[in-house]
Amino acid sequence: MTIDVSVIPVQRQATLGAPAACEGVALHGGEDVRMVMMPAPIGTGIVFIRTDIDTCENDIPVRADAVTDVTRCTTISNYAGISVSTIEHLMAALSASGVDNLCIEIDGPELPAMDGSAEKFLQMIETAGVVSQPAPRRYVKVLKPVEVQVGDAYARIEPHHNLHLDVTIDFADAAIGRQRIEIEPDVKAFRGRLASARTFARAHEVVALREAGLSLGGSYDNAIVVDGDKVLNPGGLRYSDEFVRHKALDLMGDMYVGGPLLGRVTAVRAGHALNHQLLLALFADSKAWKFTHLATVNALPDNMENTDNMKNAGNMIKSAPADVSALEETVSAL
Ligand SMILES: [Zn+2]
Repeated sequence: MTIDVSVIPVQRQATLGAPAACEGVALHGGEDVRMVMMPAPIGTGIVFIRTDIDTCENDIPVRADAVTDVTRCTTISNYAGISVSTIEHLMAALSASGVDNLCIEIDGPELPAMDGSAEKFLQMIETAGVVSQPAPRRYVKVLKPVEVQVGDAYARIEPHHNLHLDVTIDFADAAIGRQRIEIEPDVKAFRGRLASARTFARAHEVVALREAGLSLGGSYDNAIVVDGDKVLNPGGLRYSDEFVRHKALDLMGDMYVGGPLLGRVTAVRAGHALNHQLLLALFADSKAWKFTHLATVNALPDNMENTDNMKNAGNMIKSAPADVSALEETVSAL
């Protein structure tokens, strides 16, 4: 069958339509930080820029192999050891919104906690607007199951046409208990079910964290605090299963460190460390994944997805002039 690729609209890369700024307290460090998200050209990816560091080594690209710490939150570092922490809630909002290219200036080592959820970040993205760019979006398509396990926690990823999350938590604390959520988090589902779910800690952990110099900016304004069967926050919970919703949000943000993903992720008692192990295990097995492009409508036959020609088209288009007509011409020249 002959297919005219020029008539197949592929999913395009996207950035923000305008800069978006916020400021707030960092959850772990306790300092006030200001963050500005700025539109970025095709192929930039998500890049943090530490404006408080006065060297030319202050940019930190988000990549799976840039993750350097997964204790309580996700931290990435660049080759010079400059880092930025607690990126996962913003990454989840960027994943849901389909933002590929962004420069994020920040004047400290940790993102502002806002209210402990991704709601404010999603609002900022939606206010600035998401604009499509004239180059195909590159997805990571899972080809075979990959699983990681540590003790009674495990995480598994397997082939699926969309990102699909199936998350289970199981805490001894009666206020949390066993909860499960299953979701295909497009922006509508993310906004409605995950974005406003807040991070949480157990009361005894908060004491230990403070003694370890962490959670210094934590308060009832940016985290749920649980003590046995009680939620200590005066306002209570936003959802009875807010805890597992937040874990799904974290998983989504941690997976997006590796780029847009097509796969079904099952996570049981997982956290940032296991999420990251799963991503590394996937990328470590070259037969378990491949890059692909997606049609915007169900017009792309299976045998056209990620052929070598499509891969080459992606490379060609990345270096082509940034206008739509160039894209159409390059693709139709296949
Ligand atoms: Zn979180």
